[in-house]
Amino acid sequence: MKKAVEPRKTKQQEVLDAVNAALKETNGAAYEKIDFTDTETAFAGKSDADLKKAQWLFRMMSRPTLVNIGSSLGMLALKLRLPFTEKIIKETIFSQFVGGRTLLETQEAIEDLAKQNVLTILDYGAEAKTTEEDYNKTMNENIRAIEFAATNQSVPIISTKVTGMARFGLLESVSRNEPFTKATRREYKIVLKRLDSICHVARERGVGVFFDAEETWIQDAIDHFTDVMMRRYNREKAIVYNTFQMYRRDRLPYLLSSFDRAQKHGYILGAKLVRGAYMEKEAERAEEMDYPNPIHPTKGATDDAYNQAVRFCVENYERLASCNASHNAESAQLQARLIAEKGLSKDHPHLNFCQLYGMSDNLTFNLADAGYNVAKYVPYGSIKEVVPYLIRRANENTSVSGDMTRELSFITEEVQRRGI
Ligand SMILES: Cc1cc2nc3c(=O)[nH]c(=O)nc-3n(C[C@H](O)[C@H](O)[C@H](O)COP(=O)(O)OP(=O)(O)OC[C@H]3O[C@@H](n4cnc5c(N)ncnc54)[C@H](O)[C@@H]3O)c2cc1C
Repeated sequence: MKKAVEPRKTKQQEVLDAVNAALKETNGAAYEKIDFTDTETAFAGKSDADLKKAQWLFRMMSRPTLVNIGSSLGMLALKLRLPFTEKIIKETIFSQFVGGRTLLETQEAIEDLAKQNVLTILDYGAEAKTTEEDYNKTMNENIRAIEFAATNQSVPIISTKVTGMARFGLLESVSRNEPFTKATRREYKIVLKRLDSICHVARERGVGVFFDAEETWIQDAIDHFTDVMMRRYNREKAIVYNTFQMYRRDRLPYLLSSFDRAQKHGYILGAKLVRGAYMEKEAERAEEMDYPNPIHPTKGATDDAYNQAVRFCVENYERLASCNASHNAESAQLQARLIAEKGLSKDHPHLNFCQLYGMSDNLTFNLADAGYNVAKYVPYGSIKEVVPYLIRRANENTSVSGDMTRELSFITEEVQRRGI
């Protein structure tokens, strides 16, 4: 009988198989699983009153109709400048998910987190901008955040979005590899200068910069800009990090090729891993424009890719600084286990975790309690500026099936445990 011919492995698959084999061979320190259901540690920093308020808020947000009506009414009330709108938003959803309106106002949140050994990543909440004046304002605000972080040991990194500093159309054009006109070449150089100004100050002050990942049709341009910055500023230390959306089918190979490029050119790769936030938008556009959806077909496939990426980052930790930016308990547990199996220090500066402020406290505070490097993404900005961010958080916490959301069930468990 003819022997079945095994399909040839791709280079990527060979590398990943080698990573997995290497991890199996390392049987370092015994691993004690982190208990992410420990709500006492998760909410130790919250008073009874704060906890009840959070429970009320997450209950409200779990109702899709309420979130839809609330979002539209809130936007309208802000536009019409109805009295008390800002005050109501500030005392409810804003205080749960945002650190403050200004840098100075974030100080209290930073200190509260630091009390439980949690670091802060400052994130100026301005979303996509459209004028040159606004692009410069975002750049200046990022530089101010870096200066602020440099004076504060608990703030090692700031986070930013290229769409806050560049015209969306330019990013699309660069991503499509279109030839420059005189005007677009000039515009491109100005964007590069803005990003360089930020990264230059960051390196001088020893503060890291995360560049968020955005839609696929502008991401090639973002990847290009972050690569240029990493090559300039990551020679001795990881200052600049790109973001890898593992819900994209092409991102695992891209992570590997980014690492190869960094090795070849002698810099440390900064990799923030996320699953990805634009799933519906991506599917809609792909269907509308008749090209294959770039997102994995199932949640399981995204999870597999994400966990493979975590393995790759831990295995290559010497020349790759990573951040596991996720609210997924299995992926956090996996990274903690791999760190133990390889016998690495839990607080190695290249091995990090991060969650959003106001979410997944069960991961953040239990990871910190166990001695890992963990930070919260703390957005700040005026109420108007952060409204789109708040609407996204509210939508993420609605429950279509009527079940309790992940956040609400942990908060409720702690309310019951305290008997309040
Ligand atoms: C600190 C931090 C920074 C972030 N920065 C960015 C950023 O720069 N860019 C960005 O895009 N997002 C960013 N996100 C959001 C992130 O991409 C996710 O949307 C969010 O964190 C939920 O994913 P999760 O890993 O927490 O876990 P889970 O809740 O386990 O996973 C949910 C995610 O899985 C994926 N998914 C769900 N269903 C399917 C399906 N049917 N098929 C395929 N995939 C599916 C989607 O990505 C979805 O968001 C950030 C998140 C955090 C915590």
